[in-house]
Amino acid sequence: MLLRNAMGEMIVPMDPVKTLVGTSWKMTKTRMEAEAFAEALRTSDDIPDGVELFVLPPYTLVDAVARILTASPVRVGAQNLHWEDSGPFTGEISAPMLVEAGATIVEIGHSERRQLFGETDDTVRLKVAAAQRHGLTPVVCVGESRAVRESGHAVGHVTASVRAALADARPGAEIWIAYEPVWAIGENGHAATPEQAEQIHAAIRETCVEVLAAAGSRIPVLYGGSVTAGNAAGYLSAPSVDGLFVGRAAWTVQGLLDIVRVAAAAARPPA
Ligand code: PEP
Repeated sequence: MLLRNAMGEMIVPMDPVKTLVGTSWKMTKTRMEAEAFAEALRTSDDIPDGVELFVLPPYTLVDAVARILTASPVRVGAQNLHWEDSGPFTGEISAPMLVEAGATIVEIGHSERRQLFGETDDTVRLKVAAAQRHGLTPVVCVGESRAVRESGHAVGHVTASVRAALADARPGAEIWIAYEPVWAIGENGHAATPEQAEQIHAAIRETCVEVLAAAGSRIPVLYGGSVTAGNAAGYLSAPSVDGLFVGRAAWTVQGLLDIVRVAAAAARPPA
């Protein structure tokens, strides 16, 4: 696909040098389990240079996991944040608190937060700005419900969420986008086909360029939703898929490393 900026100049999307692979543990794992997982990653010889790995523990385990992985290439982050730095927001956690805990990335706008906890495109916008203000890399989740897909509006729905997420983003600051169709994630999900993923990823990339020009072409777009070691290669062979955001299949060290192995084999040579 040819992408052009507002001046009509052609923009060549730049492949990120590394394939991104990561997992959110959601509300699972005891401290002992989390530390054992982190320790196994720290001592693993199976994390190749071509793959950038990240794990997102629950808030209470971020600092323990980050401490274990501090000298390793594995990035550690959180699953949410508040957009204010501090104040009377009972139960909330801010970007400076996450930075202090050792996080370098933060997930924003997962569909569970949108469906169950009132997250909207507008709160996602505020959270992206807060994360970037403090040097955290936002991993923004976007995706359509089954009903939206069946109504034929998946592209419009997802690109509207992307536009909102980028509205206050800093052009030079890192941000990742994860396309996670709601109908594809979790126990009752059915994995998207690589073709379905590619169609939406290409639209996301086009939107990023529309909003942020050349900086938008460098935003990695990950696929998430019932990814396994068995289907990972299919997604990674799609030209607009830059990485994988994995749930259940990566909740064991072996499961995660199996997917990393597939990603390493599929890794594109640096542009
Ligand atoms: C998710 O919930 O974000 C997710 C990708 O889950 P799973 O891989 O288990 O479908």
